[in-house]
Amino acid sequence: MQLNDQSLFRQQAFCNGEWIDAQSDQVFPIYNPYDQSLLAEVPDMNAQDTQVAIEAAAQALPAWRSKSAGGRAKLLKKWYQLIRKNVDDLALLLTSEQGKPLLEAKGEILYGASYVEWFAEEARRAYGDVIPGHGRSMRILTIKQPIGVVGAITPWNFPNAMITRKIAPALAAGCTVVLKPAEATPLSALALAELAQRAGFPPGVINIVTSNQAAEVGEELCRNPIVRKLSFTGSTRVGKILMRQCADTIKKLSLELGGNAPFIVFDDADLDAAVAGAIGAKYRNAGQTCICANRIYVQAGIYDDFVAAFQKAVGQLEMGNGLDEDVVIGPLINQAALDKVERLVKEALAGGAAVLTGGEAATGYFYPPTVLVDAKPDMAIHREEIFGPVAPVYRFQEEVEVIELANATEYGLACYFYGRDYARIWRVAEALEYGMVGINTPAISTAAAPFGGVKESGIGREGSKYGLEEFMEIKYMCFGGVS
Ligand code: ADP
Repeated sequence: MQLNDQSLFRQQAFCNGEWIDAQSDQVFPIYNPYDQSLLAEVPDMNAQDTQVAIEAAAQALPAWRSKSAGGRAKLLKKWYQLIRKNVDDLALLLTSEQGKPLLEAKGEILYGASYVEWFAEEARRAYGDVIPGHGRSMRILTIKQPIGVVGAITPWNFPNAMITRKIAPALAAGCTVVLKPAEATPLSALALAELAQRAGFPPGVINIVTSNQAAEVGEELCRNPIVRKLSFTGSTRVGKILMRQCADTIKKLSLELGGNAPFIVFDDADLDAAVAGAIGAKYRNAGQTCICANRIYVQAGIYDDFVAAFQKAVGQLEMGNGLDEDVVIGPLINQAALDKVERLVKEALAGGAAVLTGGEAATGYFYPPTVLVDAKPDMAIHREEIFGPVAPVYRFQEEVEVIELANATEYGLACYFYGRDYARIWRVAEALEYGMVGINTPAISTAAAPFGGVKESGIGREGSKYGLEEFMEIKYMCFGGVS
């Protein structure tokens, strides 16, 4: 891989300000999902390596937390600028290890950077309160303090932005961090660490543990009493394991887990906007995001028009090497992802669903953009997160019916709907049991807004003013004897 700045291509872990190997010297391979070619080998770290990183973070904590908020903000801003300056290299690394089209990768880098900028600004706004006392001589005051050492575990679908979304608020709050990136995509994480080092973060403030032994490293991050907070983005299955493991040390937890997003189109929707929105909400990152539309419900009066226009738009999506211009659909991340999509589609077809376009795996890890109709609510494709470029479209008649269907899931991350009647917009937005509602737009992700889910989609929020609070504790001071 030829980068403008080859030193962003790191094949070692980053701990206590140094680039290091695993104590065991073991490494594991990183492949390009486009053609399965070998990209790199990185250290395969274990629980002991993780302990060392946690201790480095603990050592760095007192000086970092006592720095002024402005001082921390200054380093975050520098990091932000370096990320933006190196957007091309970071995007190339990201597409190479993850597969998404280069333009989307660039979008992710800028989106990721926006969290660093946002929290550089928020660092100065960790306000406390002065509360009227409970007696004439009493005064009440609160301050916010960093929670301490933070453990973070991130997924492969956003190898850059899921990291900045956790690290930036943690650092802004005054915490230090040990992060384990997904085993499929550590190169983006290591490049971010290289830029953080150049920005001037002191040793131990950011530590990156690369590993192919997720369960072992994860368990150490959960059980080590030095770690006071765990922030995780990934599957609900793993989120549950982590929550159990964190119980013994009563760690504060943020969990961004799976979704099963409904995308509802009412009869009075703007058809073109709804079709464009469905394309955006479904096919970004080849359908591999936790907020991707998983179930598209279209009201009977607009159903035929929507399906015809949607099918046409899907037919124009070009699939291929993410590095090629015009490509908007890259490969899936690995064979397991492909197998899951194939299973869900096959089951749906066996149960009476029909394919309008796509529907058969291509070569390598490629699955073409697919549209299905006549799938049923009792099918796995309706219950499970597809995580691939397959759009099942369901027909509905009544508002109450679609709300019931949309809410009949253990997930509650993102949902979307299109319509123009303002009373219905409020009614539906309030009735949907989700953490995020896109109304006439799929573009809900921004550093300014609280990202997160309800039910089994998680706990806590990332981004916005709330994102900083996840890494802080409230301390209450009670003053007596004021006379
Ligand atoms: P996905 O299905 O998106 O790969 P996972 O939840 O499996 O989601 O992975 C998200 C992150 O969680 C990755 O960094 C992965 O290595 C990590 N992970 C997987 N299993 C565990 C585990 N048992 N403990 C801790 N982390 C894990």
